[in-house]
Amino acid sequence: MTQTNYTDKVKRIAIIANGKYQSKRVASKLFSVFKDDPDFYLSKKNPDIVISIGGDGMLLSAFHMYEKELDRVRFVGIHTGHLGFYTDYRDFEVDKLIDNLRRDKGEQISYPILKVVISLDDGRVIKARALNEATVKRIEKTMVADVIVNHVKFERFRGDGISVSTPTGSTAYNKSLGGAVLHPTIEALQLTEISSLNNRVFRTLGSSLIIPKKDKIELVPRRLGIYTISIDNKTYQLKNVTKVEYFIDDEKIHFVSSPSHTSFWERVKDAFIGDIDS
Ligand code: NAP
Repeated sequence: MTQTNYTDKVKRIAIIANGKYQSKRVASKLFSVFKDDPDFYLSKKNPDIVISIGGDGMLLSAFHMYEKELDRVRFVGIHTGHLGFYTDYRDFEVDKLIDNLRRDKGEQISYPILKVVISLDDGRVIKARALNEATVKRIEKTMVADVIVNHVKFERFRGDGISVSTPTGSTAYNKSLGGAVLHPTIEALQLTEISSLNNRVFRTLGSSLIIPKKDKIELVPRRLGIYTISIDNKTYQLKNVTKVEYFIDDEKIHFVSSPSHTSFWERVKDAFIGDIDS
């Protein structure tokens, strides 16, 4: 955990909510409390703290709204359903959040994010950041692509596609694909296959790869065509992708540290296992 000194500063707060009735109610309560508090200033421009109200999906949207300001922004998530992975508070804990923000001295918890660099055959290069994962798929035909790990030509993949996820994204699409759940403090990326073709002729490793921060992952499609690239909750159709490179970004996502932070393993248990005493 690290700390920024906010003691003498009015905190600029941005409140972002999804369209659910319960989220709007929570947002209006926060607006009414912070608008009359001289220690806070409500603004969607240049915030110090972004409060996302909804679920993990809403936090993904909030991340992308402020992805160019990650060096100065801290996030807080309120879930208006079940407990999430990016959300430290439930909707009935708003008063606790307000108290914690009044006492906040800038403590933060930070997690790695993914940097993706996509090269196209017309020379264009597209750069993106992902909080959960980036996937590359070829919809109309089998995707054939070389997977290169730290300059080692590792395998020629044939199948639906490849997902590369962050540690916090390991519990999202990656898990549905059979990938491992990674503790979010581990600085690593996870490469997971999407329906690979494996038989006597075509071979891939089959299991997912956990790649350390210093190693680079490259995906080199062997065929021109339309590729479907998803970065978290956004999907793009790109023509003639020649290379996709994946790195752990130099920047991280920072969350306001909560004294009542639920442990990662409790969240995993709560989300996927439930009560084991019955
Ligand atoms: P969505 O379909 O509304 O949300 C997908 C579900 O994933 C929601 O229940 C969401 O939780 C949950 N989720 C998001 N991030 C998570 C995380 N880090 N760990 C565990 N669960 C997480 O789509 P969306 O809101 O646009 O979110 C996009 C994300 O959906 C993608 O990043 C991808 O990971 C995931 N996704 C999963 C599958 C799959 O599992 N087959 C397929 C496509 C996409 P909340 O209910 O709290 O929002």
